Amino acid sequence: MTPRDPAVDGELDVPQATPSQPQRRAPHGGRIEVICGSMFSGKTEELIRRVKRALYGRQKIQAFKPRIDDRYDATRIVSHGSIAIDAVPVSSSESLMKRVEDRTQVVAIDEAQFFDRGIVEVCNALADQGRRVILAGLDQDYLGRPFPPMPDLMAIAEDVTKVRAVCTVCGGTASRSQRIIQEGSTVLVGGAECYEARCRACFRTRDVRAGEA
Ligand SMILES: [Zn+2]
Repeated sequence: MTPRDPAVDGELDVPQATPSQPQRRAPHGGRIEVICGSMFSGKTEELIRRVKRALYGRQKIQAFKPRIDDRYDATRIVSHGSIAIDAVPVSSSESLMKRVEDRTQVVAIDEAQFFDRGIVEVCNALADQGRRVILAGLDQDYLGRPFPPMPDLMAIAEDVTKVRAVCTVCGGTASRSQRIIQEGSTVLVGGAECYEARCRACFRTRDVRAGEA
């Protein structure tokens, strides 16, 4: 005899499952953490710090990065401060999902703003499976606009950390990435030769737009 589903049978007054007869449900412990901020704000350092703590805790970890970002090292996540962890470069959110192994407890993703929109559902699915997902990425593009898919990831995350850089003009707290070369595309992968951290007051979008004409 197969157990009946009370919701299907309309018998909603049946006793709930006891701990010795657990119902099938999503495992606990899954969560999404987003680390975001401008260029040079220490996003990747914070991601690496959390991954290293999980490694000390003997957790099974996999780290990924978008294939677009080959600034430093193709198979590692390296911060501007040159701290590094091993990472698998993937070309899409679908490819990332396929590479997550059954035993993996922590999934770390750097430069999340370069992923397709599917990364939102992939992160939800991984967290629903009971895994901890840690993402780092730019919250704004070079014109100060929300950088998709980061806004959606921030919305579904259990925890969002905004990290801050130092404004190169006034020395205040910086939240924006100032492009300092004339280039009109949203995706321009680069470091200190292309960008500066700026506060809201020192951030200028006109300078860049003038160069697009
Ligand atoms: Zn400033």
